[in-house]
Amino acid sequence: MSFSAKNRSEYIQTLKTEQFDLVVIGGGITGAGIALDAATRGLKVALVEKQDFAFGTSSRSTKLIHGGLRYLKQLEFGIVHEVGRERAILYKNAPHIVIPEKMLLPIIKGGSLGKRSTSLGLYVYDKLAGVNRKERRFMLDKSKTLAVEPLLNESILRGGGMYVEYRSDDARLTIEVMKTAVANGALCLNYIECTDFRLDEKNKISGIAVVDKLKNEEFIIQTKKVINAAGPWVDNLRKIDLSLKGKRLHLTKGVHIVIPHKRMPISHATYFDVADGRMVFAIPRDNIVYLGTTDTNYKEDTNFPYAEKEDVQYILDAANNMFPSLKLTMKDVISTWAGLRPLIHEDGKSPSDLSRKDEIFISESNLISIAGGKLTGFRKMAQRSVDVVCNQLKKEDGRLFQPCSTEFIQLSGGNLEGKSIEEYARNLQTQYKDFDLDKVTALVKKYGSNTKEILEITESKTNNDLLLGEAIYSMNEEMTYNIADFFIRRTGRVYFERNSLEPIIEKSHQFFKEQLYYDSETALQFREDFNKEYEGVVQFKS
Ligand code: FAD
Repeated sequence: MSFSAKNRSEYIQTLKTEQFDLVVIGGGITGAGIALDAATRGLKVALVEKQDFAFGTSSRSTKLIHGGLRYLKQLEFGIVHEVGRERAILYKNAPHIVIPEKMLLPIIKGGSLGKRSTSLGLYVYDKLAGVNRKERRFMLDKSKTLAVEPLLNESILRGGGMYVEYRSDDARLTIEVMKTAVANGALCLNYIECTDFRLDEKNKISGIAVVDKLKNEEFIIQTKKVINAAGPWVDNLRKIDLSLKGKRLHLTKGVHIVIPHKRMPISHATYFDVADGRMVFAIPRDNIVYLGTTDTNYKEDTNFPYAEKEDVQYILDAANNMFPSLKLTMKDVISTWAGLRPLIHEDGKSPSDLSRKDEIFISESNLISIAGGKLTGFRKMAQRSVDVVCNQLKKEDGRLFQPCSTEFIQLSGGNLEGKSIEEYARNLQTQYKDFDLDKVTALVKKYGSNTKEILEITESKTNNDLLLGEAIYSMNEEMTYNIADFFIRRTGRVYFERNSLEPIIEKSHQFFKEQLYYDSETALQFREDFNKEYEGVVQFKS
């Protein structure tokens, strides 16, 4: 069955009637990775997500597949080694959304790193993370650093280091992993919330109670094992399971702001010092630059964290200190996003000092919860948690499963035939001459080798309207129900192209409504949900 929003009722019927080996709760990158790992080992797996896939932290990160430089500062050598290796695997399996990018590290007077320590730090990082020869760090003196990035603050600059980070798109990575899981037999469904657990006679979980949020209908999914991959909501489910004891989550909020590239015409991604000892990123992406992040304790509504005025001001002040000629103000900010880090609490540690390591908790009822971690390390997190499930099933039922093989699985869209994104797009455009090369390239950056399908749909069904072609593909192949799914998680347009969105919002809403036969109440709800997020990204201005 394809991963189409039009097949929802058949999917729900299967969830109601069949028993699964494993149900995963949470459709962020952690849950998607687990679904893929489990499906490819031969488990019968379902995944439920209470909102849309990547609705939580997995659409609100800095969108980097890190080599883990910041962990070096915290002396977490094991993490640096693991994420460095993971980065290389992801680049191989999803080259359309994991893109190497040179990162400039300016060294400033009174900054957290001196010339020697930066050089040594980047050297150790290259070694530990297994960075390939072509991408190893090099150091620059002050004049060369300024030649590379003339907008830097000359009065405090002492030099710079250049190293390679990998830029990604967190929500697209999540959906590509999810699509690959579905192609391997997983049943993944959004807008299904887990509200309770069902226990067998030995008081072990044997099912979960869920609500289909589009129909407000409750039902039970029968399963042998459950993994709680609910990110910032992991403890809510542990509470329902009556197992919220000992270690707990510690949520911290991180904000990013988006500025037009013409107001911040930097040529390199830059990772720079802030006066309080933290560091922030400025990352150019097409016509914008995004900057972040903050790191503050968070105890409010987990569903809709927003950037506050002071978060935005903090990032603007940091940018104006490093790039003083820009004189950026709140007026320059076209959009923002805020995400919650689901970290594990450690007494007495500040938000930035908390470890980013992941941990697995297994409760008496056998709820397997996985918390902490990073986007970058999702594949190993999945491997560790599916290992737990396979070991249990082996002990209980004598069943044997394949070992983890996700290292060798190309993700959906990842088949660029060994070409760069630009080469692949040029090649494709020669077959679809009606479309501009820049538009085809923009699609390849999101959908990789699946772009061909979008162009085909566009030609055959929409009279060459690319937006509609993209929407149809999204509905049919990415389980997209509404304009919030489409404009926020599948395409990032609310964050990166907010200024040009207004004229196409209503047309797109009507299109989804007609295609998916919403009733008027559902249509209104979806429109309101979209407006809430669309306005939320500029809420700090009010
Ligand atoms: P989420 O993405 O939050 O997914 C959990 C999902 O569970 C949600 O979609 C939620 O709706 C669903 N859910 C919750 N309760 C239920 C329920 N009862 N029933 C069904 N579904 C439920 N990592 C990197 O590697 N690189 C970075 O550059 C980076 N930058 C970051 C910047 C910021 C500001 C933040 C906050 C994090 C950053 N991270 C980064 C970390 C990374 O984003 C997270 O570790 C990762 O996205 C967490 O994914 P997750 O799937 O565990 O959680």
